[in-house]
Amino acid sequence: MSHLRFKEVEVAFNRSPIRVAIPSEPPSRYYGCMVFNRKQMFEYLSRETYMALTRAIDEKAPLDRTLANDVAAGMKQWALDHGVTHYTHWFHPLTDGTAEKHDSFIEHDGKGGVIEQFDGRLLVQQEPDASSFPNGGIRNTFEARGYSAWDISSPAFIHDNTLCIPTIFIAYSGESLDYKTPLLRALNSIDRAGTAVARLFDPNVKHVISYLGWEQEYFLVDEALYAARPDLALTGRTLMGHESAKNQQLEDHYFGAIPMRVEEFMLDLEIECHRLGIPVKTRHNEVAPNQFELAPIYEETNLANDHNLLLMSLMAQVARRHHFRVLLHEKPFAGVNGSGKHNNWSLGTDTGVQLFKPGKTPQENLQFITFLSCVMAAVHRYNGLLKASIASATNAHRLGGNEAPPAIISMFLGTQLSQVLSSLVDDERDDNLNFDAHEELNLKVSQIPELMVDNTDRNRTSPFAFTGNRFEFRAVGSSANCASAMIALNAAVAQQLQWFHTAVERHVADGTPLGDAILTEVKRLIKQSRAVHFDGNGYSDAWQQEAERRGLDCETSVPLIFDNYLLPEVIEMFGETGVLSRVELEARNEVKWEMYVKKVQIEARVLGDLALNHILPVATRYQSLLLDNVYKIKSLFSPDKFEQMATHDMTMIETMSAHMQVIKDEVGRMVEYRKVANRIEDLRSRAIAYHDTVASQLATIRYHVDKLELMVDDEMWPLPKYRELLFIR
Ligand code: ADP
Ligand code: MG
Repeated sequence: MSHLRFKEVEVAFNRSPIRVAIPSEPPSRYYGCMVFNRKQMFEYLSRETYMALTRAIDEKAPLDRTLANDVAAGMKQWALDHGVTHYTHWFHPLTDGTAEKHDSFIEHDGKGGVIEQFDGRLLVQQEPDASSFPNGGIRNTFEARGYSAWDISSPAFIHDNTLCIPTIFIAYSGESLDYKTPLLRALNSIDRAGTAVARLFDPNVKHVISYLGWEQEYFLVDEALYAARPDLALTGRTLMGHESAKNQQLEDHYFGAIPMRVEEFMLDLEIECHRLGIPVKTRHNEVAPNQFELAPIYEETNLANDHNLLLMSLMAQVARRHHFRVLLHEKPFAGVNGSGKHNNWSLGTDTGVQLFKPGKTPQENLQFITFLSCVMAAVHRYNGLLKASIASATNAHRLGGNEAPPAIISMFLGTQLSQVLSSLVDDERDDNLNFDAHEELNLKVSQIPELMVDNTDRNRTSPFAFTGNRFEFRAVGSSANCASAMIALNAAVAQQLQWFHTAVERHVADGTPLGDAILTEVKRLIKQSRAVHFDGNGYSDAWQQEAERRGLDCETSVPLIFDNYLLPEVIEMFGETGVLSRVELEARNEVKWEMYVKKVQIEARVLGDLALNHILPVATRYQSLLLDNVYKIKSLFSPDKFEQMATHDMTMIETMSAHMQVIKDEVGRMVEYRKVANRIEDLRSRAIAYHDTVASQLATIRYHVDKLELMVDDEMWPLPKYRELLFIR
């Protein structure tokens, strides 16, 4: 820890000062010091073991079991040298977040004492008793066994004095029970399919790698205020609260000066991240008050996703040290922007070519257009699936709210690229004039300029935007596991690349020159998938109608959006790419519907409780103060005076009564809806009932509670208000 100094910092609200770390050395000195990376491997493993392990990682080959003992021994020593006492298989179940079960290294030594033990068997595979993780019915309880198995492509790390080993989590019967397994399969399939296509251009390519750079948005709230808001504590969002007089209308928060307290939190978090090898780089304020963003340098997708999951738990921990709570909910506050997690995604070859970056030669540009058109075709064909991959009870509050991408997946290309594409397909010169395809190719694809490296051509209303050398999938929610989106996207594009390759091979077998064959297919894909291309305002009503006309998925009900996973073509696509089987897809949808029900159910219970037990009693008390006042005025003043002096209070009493009555009625109705929905056996139908009846009640009840908030004496109001929650002092 010599790279850190500590200083005492005063935080608000008269609490005792906290101790925060400040680096005394540049990050390059301590970056990755808590990761069993190649440097540590080299130091702690024998030369042969090091070579064999790194070869297995590089070539994505399975690790020889005999090596596992040697690796485990080195890893254990490294961990013990860092004061570690426990180890855990770290995995991503189908809930939010990660799971871990810690075991100590100790074993009996046979002499009444203990030794530290950790061998290859414990490293490679474990059998956590994980019957309580959601599995959608895959595991019958009599064989409720799940296995976790080491993912050697993501390095082990030390967190909280525990050696964490990233693992996949699968059922006894082989089906995946987590996010990582299908993610690795999707990355494999895009590697295979992408490599085949990239080799049409350069036979030296051995691998195509998928990259992810996420941008994590979040809110911070003072912990004392958080503790006084049961809705925040139990559901992650405020279920009531009138807008603050000031919120984001002055647009003074975005890129503004970061409050001191927050900056200290950020620095602390960044140090933790860097020690764990998470390359966080960018930090800034976001649009809403108390909203911030953090982004790393992009990495290979599997590692990037592990890092994001680790980051989310680090954030929660570090925030507590600073007397904050971090909110990762997509919409913690009504009336101000919600939080997303843009997934910047690209493909590259092991030879160093960025496949979504326009090149300098016609050949490079043809390759660029090839990959671009395959992405376009995949996003078009599976726009409903991509939406399903980001849909959740919580993200539903953010999408379509004129602040985030709409609930329609379209693709933004920008002016220059749109022109390039339309000149390729709209111009039929080659057909009419027997124009030499090569020449045409040279003319058109050589002219693609270095695209949009500046920010001016950024359309923030698009859920899936091309940004010069990558695509930005903006619809992903801030609390989501990015794997969900990355599984769907990489698998869909892999299938398209595979089809592309087959089609080109067929043309070539028929005697068509390779370049012409590629160009023919590219044009076909662009023509066929144009409906998904939209550069206009995604927030406009006109787009909704236009999108419907174009046949894009416009469904807004989350339980119905999940149906996309079970469409015949989607089951086929996941099967063809080997990413998810029908059984897995069906099980996952059961989990999704169940999660949806539970989230709405919890919100409904919390809101009902708050409304009846917190808000109504206080409103009644205030109302009776007013009544008292009216009564006294009446007894002391003449009828004329009374008229004058008491009218306002009397109106207020009546208005409050009206709101209070509606709240009672609507809470009652919500409870009834819940009872009806709970009796529905089928999870999909239950989720639909929750969406159609219970969820809409939340907004109705809230409306009336928020009205009362404006009337009741501020001193009596039992919950911290938005103006307090949203402005860190
Ligand atoms: P902005 O807010 O302008 O979108 P940020 O700097 O906040 O930009 O985040 C951009 C993210 O995109 C970073 O994580 C960055 O590393 C990532 N990124 C940049 N180039 C690529 C690429 N080729 N592939 C994937 N991610 C990329
Ligand atoms: Mg971005």
